[in-house]
Amino acid sequence: MVFETEFYDILGVKPNCTQGELKKAYRKLALKYHPDKNPNEGEKFKQISMAYEVLSDPEKKAIYDEGGEAAIKQGGVGGGGGFHSPMDIFHMFFNGGFSNRTKSERKTPNIIYTLSVTLEELYTGTKRKLALQRSVICDVCEGIGGKRGAAQKCGPCRGTGVITKVQKLSPGLVQQCEERCRVCCGHGEMIDEKDRCKECSGRKTVRQRKLLEIDVLRGMMDEQRIVLAGEGNHEPDCRPGDVILVLEEKPHPVFKREGTDLVAHVQLQLSEALCGFSKVIKTLDGRDIVIQSFPGEVVKHLSAKCVMGEGMPRFRQPSEKGRLIIQFVVVFPDSLPKEVALQMRNCLPSPITEEISEDAESVQMVSYLIFCFL
Ligand SMILES: [Zn+2]
Ligand SMILES: [Zn+2]
Repeated sequence: MVFETEFYDILGVKPNCTQGELKKAYRKLALKYHPDKNPNEGEKFKQISMAYEVLSDPEKKAIYDEGGEAAIKQGGVGGGGGFHSPMDIFHMFFNGGFSNRTKSERKTPNIIYTLSVTLEELYTGTKRKLALQRSVICDVCEGIGGKRGAAQKCGPCRGTGVITKVQKLSPGLVQQCEERCRVCCGHGEMIDEKDRCKECSGRKTVRQRKLLEIDVLRGMMDEQRIVLAGEGNHEPDCRPGDVILVLEEKPHPVFKREGTDLVAHVQLQLSEALCGFSKVIKTLDGRDIVIQSFPGEVVKHLSAKCVMGEGMPRFRQPSEKGRLIIQFVVVFPDSLPKEVALQMRNCLPSPITEEISEDAESVQMVSYLIFCFL
């Protein structure tokens, strides 16, 4: 007699079931309720994992049979009453069991994407959706590829998935190289056509479209990587790799980013440079800020000023912002009417008069182009 049967009921097995039956029950339910297939059944997935974690471990099972869930939670599990995360249980199970989880376990290759984002999006943060095509374990054959026991060791590669080729480079010099077995595509086993799973045609996995929501956080940088752990392709006996998004910052027409600083070039007419100006700058979050000169101030060509706190937000500390650095580009008129030039001369500081000796030679100047990148 057992104290309570809830964990057995969750997995749909009898208390006197074998470990084999237990595994089979977990495999079926875990695939059915995996959040990728059933995003709204997270609680159910958790219960299945908990029940399996306890019942698959003889020591924990004994505690459960004697005192029920309460006994398990009172410190029966790992001494602290803690359970593994349902995802851990899932990956450990499909990786071949709890005990042999090693560091060298295989992982499917990471999938890398480039995600183009505007400077505005990096300033305010944004959510982006990504429709991902990836392979998941076929739930019809539960990742076996066909009828149970139908898989045969591949002949040509003797089940290793690799063929060793010997190449003669020159007399007496041979090179050995390994190549993926073409007969079994590196799987090491073959399933007769009639026994293959109809759903996945023996491939063990099926393609699935998954919509991922990506959080682009405030202050993220060009080339920063966003890692969606375990969202890559699923394969039997393999941990799923990660999906990695590499951010690519699009150039902005007004601002150039330098770390947390933003640099903008502001054009001033000569009159504004000499007599004062006020200009509106639209920030990356759509606010209008006004910059203006002090009364009597003259702004020089290519001089710069900065506004504290109007740069980019710092990643992970978005309330802290860098500087907005403004570099002024003064636009000079091409020519001035003679009388204006005379009037202006009187208003401006008088030039230092230079003595020109009698034998100084007068030369002609012509235009010379200087390339200036602004
Ligand atoms: Zn299948
Ligand atoms: Zn083979």
